[in-house]
Amino acid sequence: MTETYTKEDGNTELWHTIFAVGHPDLSAQQSFHAKLPRDPRCKLCKAPFAGLGGLYMRFRGKAPSSRNKNYCNACDGFLDAFPGGAEVGMSVLFADIRNSTAFAESAGPKAASERVNRFLDSATKAITDNDGFILAFYGDCIVAVWPPGFSGPDHARLALTAARAISADARAGDGAVPVGVGVHLGEVYIGTVQAARGLFRDVSIFGVEVNITARLAAAAAAGEALASKALTDAAGGDAGAMRSFDLKGISQPVEATSLT
Ligand SMILES: [Zn+2]
Repeated sequence: MTETYTKEDGNTELWHTIFAVGHPDLSAQQSFHAKLPRDPRCKLCKAPFAGLGGLYMRFRGKAPSSRNKNYCNACDGFLDAFPGGAEVGMSVLFADIRNSTAFAESAGPKAASERVNRFLDSATKAITDNDGFILAFYGDCIVAVWPPGFSGPDHARLALTAARAISADARAGDGAVPVGVGVHLGEVYIGTVQAARGLFRDVSIFGVEVNITARLAAAAAAGEALASKALTDAAGGDAGAMRSFDLKGISQPVEATSLT
């Protein structure tokens, strides 16, 4: 990731409504758009960019934003008009590839890039199939959130299902990409960030709970997903045995279970 981002504040009530409660206009758009074919879609309103649905959207004046193709022009305009964010309790997932540097050295850059793309394809599918919101690809790492206003009240269970799917792909035998997954639940600041050169805005997350999730992913073995007790408690069901993890830079030990 070469861009540096600056966190922005403001419009707290609006951001809280969108990600904690669910904004009625946006929720209505999302459920309408989700029925139309097909991916890729706007990350926020889920307007399809391809297939018949994409054609229909273009007819309605919605197309990928020229500055940020992850969003439609309307949502990109929204991020620009209402920069800011709010603290919202949500599920957070980090997944990253192990030993990327060693692999790139031995297999070469083409094989390394194919491997990253295979991982991003399968992880993206696992996350979007389970109503998650992908925030970023940082090199060989993917970050996603399940805010209740966006993913619904069942967000912890959905995040758990995505974590299981990603780690199952990482154990799928020949050609499987060695990935470690961390999934956690807590209060995070979600809001807009501005690219250093002011080219575009995106959405990102901040706070100690974000660091805990990243550290859990780092502590997971290849093909393993570690889920915090906070997340499995919220998801319900039998979580299995908990272990206590001393995570780098985190003062309190974190209870987590291996999903595999
Ligand atoms: Zn949109």
